[in-house]
Amino acid sequence: MKTLLIALISFSFIGSSCAQKNKKQKKNQSFAVVKTDAEWKKQLTAEQFQVARKAGTEAPYTGKFWDNYEKGMYTCSSCAQELFSSETKFESGTGWPSFWKPLKKQNVIEKNDGTLGMARTEVICSRCGAHLGHVFDDGPKPTGLRYCMNSASLDFVKAK
Ligand SMILES: [Zn+2]
Repeated sequence: MKTLLIALISFSFIGSSCAQKNKKQKKNQSFAVVKTDAEWKKQLTAEQFQVARKAGTEAPYTGKFWDNYEKGMYTCSSCAQELFSSETKFESGTGWPSFWKPLKKQNVIEKNDGTLGMARTEVICSRCGAHLGHVFDDGPKPTGLRYCMNSASLDFVKAK
């Protein structure tokens, strides 16, 4: 319980110190891939649209990838940008596909997210702005990070 409290306090501290930077970033934010909701709805399934474009969260243990152990690349289900390698995937026990590192730092954007009364860090695709999930600091070594992603925001390209 004590550790949880400390984690929460440090989380909100990190959250507030990043808030200003993110505000600035948001103002100038433009993505390489920009589509209207109508266009996204045509391209995505109803669940993919709700999660990736409307920052929804799929129910745990329901997605396609939480128990996918094949080797390959996880890409953005909206724009196909490569996001996570299976090499960095780990079993988090949460029911969502979890990674300890994105493929490239510049392929994701991390934003302060104060919704649901929690200070969390949202992770979005840097190419199209798709909501991917959140990143927490209770992951395994070497980064100590846990990128908790939604299967609906991802596609999987099996290694040949
Ligand atoms: Zn994308």
